[in-house]
Amino acid sequence: MSNYKIETKCVQGGYRPGNGEPRQIPIVQSTTFRYETSEDMGKLFDLEASGYFYSRLQNPTCDTVAAKICELEGGSAAMLTSSGQAANFYAVFNIANCGDHVVCSTAIYGGTYNLFAVTMKKMGVEFTFVSPDCTEEELNAAFRANTKAVFGETIANPALTVLDIEKFAKAAHAHGVPLIIDNTFATPVNCRPFEWGADIVTHSTTKYMDGHGAAVGGCIVDSGRFDWMAEKEKFPGLCTPDDSYHGIVYAEKFGKEGAFITKATAQLMRDFGSTPAPQSAFLLNLGLESLHVRMERHCANAQAVAEFLEGHEKIAWVNYSGLPSSRYYELAKKYLPKGSCGVVSFGIRGGRAAAEKFMKKLQIAAIETHVADARTCCLHPASATHRQMNDEELIAAGVPGDLVRLSCGLEHAEDLIADLAQALESI
Ligand SMILES: *Cc1c(COP(=O)(O)O)cnc(C)c1O
Repeated sequence: MSNYKIETKCVQGGYRPGNGEPRQIPIVQSTTFRYETSEDMGKLFDLEASGYFYSRLQNPTCDTVAAKICELEGGSAAMLTSSGQAANFYAVFNIANCGDHVVCSTAIYGGTYNLFAVTMKKMGVEFTFVSPDCTEEELNAAFRANTKAVFGETIANPALTVLDIEKFAKAAHAHGVPLIIDNTFATPVNCRPFEWGADIVTHSTTKYMDGHGAAVGGCIVDSGRFDWMAEKEKFPGLCTPDDSYHGIVYAEKFGKEGAFITKATAQLMRDFGSTPAPQSAFLLNLGLESLHVRMERHCANAQAVAEFLEGHEKIAWVNYSGLPSSRYYELAKKYLPKGSCGVVSFGIRGGRAAAEKFMKKLQIAAIETHVADARTCCLHPASATHRQMNDEELIAAGVPGDLVRLSCGLEHAEDLIADLAQALESI
């Protein structure tokens, strides 16, 4: 499918039924698979043949959907995980272990920050956080001899900063390590990080890819371009024998195109088991079939809402990279020419108390911690997710008391604007 446009890949990628086979992807609801001989199965355990034996490692439905996302991103191999958290954990832990170090943008999802700065730190992996807006010198200064990867988000959740992917890729490659990009908010419809030098892409498919708030999930895609063997000393996990598979060397046996995902499946999925249910993969595929159509509407609605808010007297500030007033407007034009995403954040004049009042009056926008849903949803962090913080702590965390995050759904823009207008009227 590689010559087709992204819209066609969303609809048809990953699966081509044979004569008389089901048009919709089959849900293979089976934990296990039957073989004629022990020798046949033995080849799978030696990684000498590819095939299925136990759904904790691989399942045909999940692989079909991973293949579609692989085509959308323009990668060489991909795997689904049970959540975005699992995808980011696997992507990093596949190459950075105890005693290693990772350079990471400060503008990342809170759950990922916690995973890296608290949980993986306990596992002995250290992170240095750098501003996405840092200079090349500041970025280069963050590297150490034991640095194994660089990590950032195309559009950060919830800060909505746009990452200069080329700048981060250049620094990563100058230090012989890959750039991992979480592309959740942009989706491959609006940005394909491999085209800008990224090496590994991750997703929380829970967001726009699913798009209907139906199934939590994640995905890892490999570009197949990072030359692990050229940096042998840095990546022993990929470039030296794995005793649990009779001493195979992933980078030799599966090459640049297959080594990363094969290792993540054969070791991390085997040992941690964060595998998605086939039913969840099926639901994800339904979402992917309309991703290109939905992203266009999410972006158009967010643009209309952002423009309305920016002109409103009761609004103190608006953060959306589609507005010329945004400091990320130029970067968004370069990396996200079709639009960024449906999430807009803004400040209500009158601070925390006014924002709380505003939230109570909303009728279409539902109060949820979720984003990227077909239905518009809204969150006031100071009275919900961050309610234990005082005003100073909120500012330090980048979520001032007046901040409201709105995830524009697929409703009509005029209805969304009217809902915001009446809620602003009331304060
Ligand atoms: C939600 C999110 C995650 C975590 O994904 P889950 O599916 O909730 O585990 C990771 N990265 C980004 C950018 C997200 O928005």
